[in-house]
Amino acid sequence: ILKNYVDGIPKETDMEVKLGETIELRAPKGSSSFLVKNLYLSCDPYMRGRMRDFHGSYLPPFVPGQRIEGFGLARVIDSDDDNYKTGDIIGGIIGWEEYSLLRSSDNLQLRKIQLDDDIPLSYHLGLLGMAGFTAYAGFYEICCPKKGESVFVSAASGAVGQLVGQLAKLHGCYVVGSAGSKQKVDLLKNELGFDEAFNYKEEADLDAALKRYFPEGINIYFDNVGGSMLDAALLNMKVRGRIALCGMVSLQSLSSSSQGINNLYNAIPKRVRLEGFLQSDYLHIFPQFLENVMRYYKEGKIVYIEDMSEGLELAPAALVGLFSGKNIGKQVIRVAKE
Ligand code: NDP
Repeated sequence: ILKNYVDGIPKETDMEVKLGETIELRAPKGSSSFLVKNLYLSCDPYMRGRMRDFHGSYLPPFVPGQRIEGFGLARVIDSDDDNYKTGDIIGGIIGWEEYSLLRSSDNLQLRKIQLDDDIPLSYHLGLLGMAGFTAYAGFYEICCPKKGESVFVSAASGAVGQLVGQLAKLHGCYVVGSAGSKQKVDLLKNELGFDEAFNYKEEADLDAALKRYFPEGINIYFDNVGGSMLDAALLNMKVRGRIALCGMVSLQSLSSSSQGINNLYNAIPKRVRLEGFLQSDYLHIFPQFLENVMRYYKEGKIVYIEDMSEGLELAPAALVGLFSGKNIGKQVIRVAKE
């Protein structure tokens, strides 16, 4: 439950885990709704934007005193909707609670999940879910990559970044990632196949760090963090480079007008294209994404790193951990056994 609106980075104490009311585990007759038992919840940086009292974004704020919601996976246990049958596994927006009563007319981005013996169900929240899709849509649709180009990815070991880097490698690019610890840098180089990686927290001068890894400049910057890393990247772009503005997790305040960007001018002589995007605008290519990424995974061409928290009690800590880099890979919460 969100206790209060949040200013800046959320803290565990901004949320509380409460015993709710006892409910009858049935979907009321004539309600066109269906009842699900929640299995996995996804922790996503965008959720911070819903924890403040701001109505001008693409999603409305959460309501203090009410439960948080987000992407999750659940099993239908009773249904008054002919499209969803008992036993179906669904993905979509569900409550951060043990059971949710859902209505398909509520724009919950629902989809049925086909179980596959070779793919753990929870992967449908990351690699094969919203995060993976963000990487896929952002890389192919916004970055327009060409074989041999140089690609830089920030927050590279996270849910989105890890797939961007691996897709770029499959595309024949030179790929460098930044991350916030030695363990993550090792992961990028040794398991995720990045050509190079560095710990941005150990670099006094981000511009110098990028010049070290990209002496001839960057063709594509997939920006997950904004702020000083974006500013340094602007100094290192090649002519006609592309910057995909995916997210700005480094910003302490989402409402601040100062984003710490001083080097935007460089985009003019270098003819750099900066483009913000939302994965939800590209859902028409979701089936193509699912088919391709599932195949890459099964063929062993990509790997996937997931960070699983056990139990709703740990949900606030798991969500807050995204903003200090506690998660290693995609942060997921297991609410109940499958
Ligand atoms: P991650 O799994 O990457 O988790 C967030 C990571 O951000 C942390 O692990 C941490 O990694 C890094 N981070 C946290 N604070 C800072 C900071 N102050 N400076 C630099 N890095 C920081 O999250 P996702 O992969 O789910 O999301 C990545 C980005 O993509 C986010 O900005 C998110 O908002 C965005 N996004 C955008 C979508 C869209 O449609 N445009 C859809 C989905 C996600 P480290 O230890 O390396 O610092």
